[in-house]
Amino acid sequence: MRLSRYFLPVLKETPAEAQIVSHRYMLRAGMIKQQAAGIYSWLPLGFKVLRKIENIVHEEQQRAGHIPLLMPTLQPADLWRESGRYDDYGEEMLRIRDRHDRDMLYGPTNEEMVTDIFRSHVSSYKDLPLTLYHIQWKFRDEIRPRFGVMRGREFYMKDGYNFDLTQEDALHAYNRHLVSYLRTYERMGLQAIPMRADSGPIGGDDTHEFLVLADTGESEVFYDSAVTDLTFGDRDIDYDDVSQCQGVLEEFTSKYARTDETHDEALFNQVPEERRRVARGIEVGQIFYFGTKYSEAMGATVQDKDGNKVPVHMGSHGIGVSRLLGAIIEASHDDKGIIWPEGVTPFHCGIVNLKQGDEEADGACEALYKSLTALGLEPLYDDRKERAGAKFATMDLIGLPWRITVGPRGLKNGVVELTCRRTGESEELPPEQAVTKLAGIYEGHMVRGL
Ligand code: ATP
Ligand code: MG
Repeated sequence: MRLSRYFLPVLKETPAEAQIVSHRYMLRAGMIKQQAAGIYSWLPLGFKVLRKIENIVHEEQQRAGHIPLLMPTLQPADLWRESGRYDDYGEEMLRIRDRHDRDMLYGPTNEEMVTDIFRSHVSSYKDLPLTLYHIQWKFRDEIRPRFGVMRGREFYMKDGYNFDLTQEDALHAYNRHLVSYLRTYERMGLQAIPMRADSGPIGGDDTHEFLVLADTGESEVFYDSAVTDLTFGDRDIDYDDVSQCQGVLEEFTSKYARTDETHDEALFNQVPEERRRVARGIEVGQIFYFGTKYSEAMGATVQDKDGNKVPVHMGSHGIGVSRLLGAIIEASHDDKGIIWPEGVTPFHCGIVNLKQGDEEADGACEALYKSLTALGLEPLYDDRKERAGAKFATMDLIGLPWRITVGPRGLKNGVVELTCRRTGESEELPPEQAVTKLAGIYEGHMVRGL
């Protein structure tokens, strides 16, 4: 993309309404625009990152064997009356009446609807196990929408639902989700710690929340610092293998890590003192096992091997896709702007032309642009007639992990400068080598954007 032709409405001033750094930088980098309290337009740069995050979630869900579908945002109230949640959900549910006076709602989640799909089409244990998921907009009429996309009213969420014959199978689905979530967050450059949590209105006993540590997080968290040493890495997990998934779950959840809702002071005190941490975290996902709560209420049954009709065991699993943009920025920024992890960056590198209009500099930038693009990388070429300082400031603000700086002086010696956004370190090297180096860095991080 050439910056002169892109739509990147960066702001010079820090918007007064933004209280936390991710919200400030998302507004300043021209990623979002607020349209009403907690409701945002996603401008091109923000939309690009949103799609990358979404695509990582899709890839990892499908790797775990989960099947994508798409359910609507508007739902009939009658489905929610069946489960009893139409009245229970409270003020957060946006209720709408259509022209025929039918009660509708903008879905805050989809347990009822997916259970309805299941009961309409599945009747035998032979069709299990089954996990269906979608990534769709949700609406919750939050009392205090704030922090930009972190607590919106309209927000984008991956929600998945498993249907299993037995509790044992459903617990495997739970473990499988935990494992696939660990991998998902790591691919986004995030450490998200699974913590025992309360289940809230979804209901059920088994639940973990995934929290990213950040001072601006809304949850207070208590953990054994040993959990932050754990990484998923490039393990090759067989998601059908019950004991492998169980093993990973035990590894990642055996150390003390809880939110304030389930915090147990006595247990916490058993952690060696020097490893006890009290901090704040951002919830980026949650998994639940809730047994037959919805299947019994809504008649989602299958015939088992002996021909008996039994309610299926279910769980639901959510990732806050739009909240993740804020969480990633909270975890990765400096005083100049965002620092995108390679896995989710909107463009793979910036190209800064120090002397736009100079034949040699223009030619070198065009050549770089072409070779990077030919390798499937997406550069953002700042081809504006602007001061170098302004170009650097924009690149730093929007946070591309790598920048190639091209100027007549370097070109005389046959080199360009490759700069790492995170460390600020630069090296001079011939343009072809810069391209090869970037191709190497992004190997394994190529996520489709837009
Ligand atoms: P919270 O406790 O933050 O209100 P929740 O526990 O009600 O969230 P879940 O039902 O578990 O949310 O939804 C799954 C994920 O969706 C959450 O982990 C979070 O990342 C995201 N999410 C929930 N509410 C919002 C919101 N208002 N804005 C943005 N993302 C949200
Ligand atoms: Mg939650």
